[in-house]
Amino acid sequence: MAKNVGWSAIQENSGERADYVKLEAGKKTRLHILDENPIQFSVHPIAGGAQGRPERCKGKDCPFCAKPLDYGKKTRYAVSVFAFDTNQPKVLEGGTQIFAGISAAVEAYEGQTKAFDIIINRTGAGLETRYTVVPVPTQYKPEMLKVEKFNVAKIYGVSTATDDDTTDHPSAIDEVPF
Ligand SMILES: [Zn+2]
Repeated sequence: MAKNVGWSAIQENSGERADYVKLEAGKKTRLHILDENPIQFSVHPIAGGAQGRPERCKGKDCPFCAKPLDYGKKTRYAVSVFAFDTNQPKVLEGGTQIFAGISAAVEAYEGQTKAFDIIINRTGAGLETRYTVVPVPTQYKPEMLKVEKFNVAKIYGVSTATDDDTTDHPSAIDEVPF
């Protein structure tokens, strides 16, 4: 049965189309960060998100937060990047281990994200999976980005226009400094 939907619902769904960085075991992945800041959000440990990723917490009225379900939550981050292996823009999504590593790199380069690339090395498997993030002087040039970077804020539904609302209704997704 057809039904009317709000324009915002369409935006949210179309925003799911993005290329995500796949970090493979034993492989080093070189990336350049294209956003000033990452965004932070929460996921529940159940599949259901786009492309098999965990279900994102929907905030105030999230059915997966409601008792008796209450799956628990994990903090995740996402940022727009340039991937050197395919010379394409992608979205890097990850947990605290990866993004704390990036945060340390940003600090080492005094906040100058344009000055360095990161090399992420994934080792181990399952619960023993480890990620190391090593910053190196950048080889990225803006002209290497042939198509526009992904708009992470839009993909994850971060609305910069309604920042005032966040004080009353804490969102599941926030823009955070590195
Ligand atoms: Zn939730």
